[in-house]
Amino acid sequence: MPFKATNYPPNWRDEIRPAILKRDGYKCLVCGVHQRAFGYRDKNGTFVECDDHMTRWANQQGISCFTIYLSVGHTCHDTLCVNPYHLKTMCPRCHNAHDLQNRLANRKYKLKNSRYVCSGRK
Ligand SMILES: [Zn+2]
Ligand SMILES: [Zn+2]
Repeated sequence: MPFKATNYPPNWRDEIRPAILKRDGYKCLVCGVHQRAFGYRDKNGTFVECDDHMTRWANQQGISCFTIYLSVGHTCHDTLCVNPYHLKTMCPRCHNAHDLQNRLANRKYKLKNSRYVCSGRK
């Protein structure tokens, strides 16, 4: 889902997001990868961190390395929710998987056009 600023609280970028990243120790709570880790995903989806030597090796194998930029996702799927218990730090890969599950669930329950509003919002 593309990031839409209007779907997020006004202090999301400056306050909420940094606070959650800090709370979670700047790593993905699902797979444990660190903020700005550099490397690639192996066949099993495990992130392999690369130093210069490893990067050169990977490139020779046709594997491209990239940097992890963590994002903060909503476990309740209401992007306006600011309840810290509903927020968790995830890497792009885990975030996509998380959103995908939500989209599939929405389709199942035909909630596609109605916006879910979290009851735990403060
Ligand atoms: Zn992850
Ligand atoms: Zn919530």
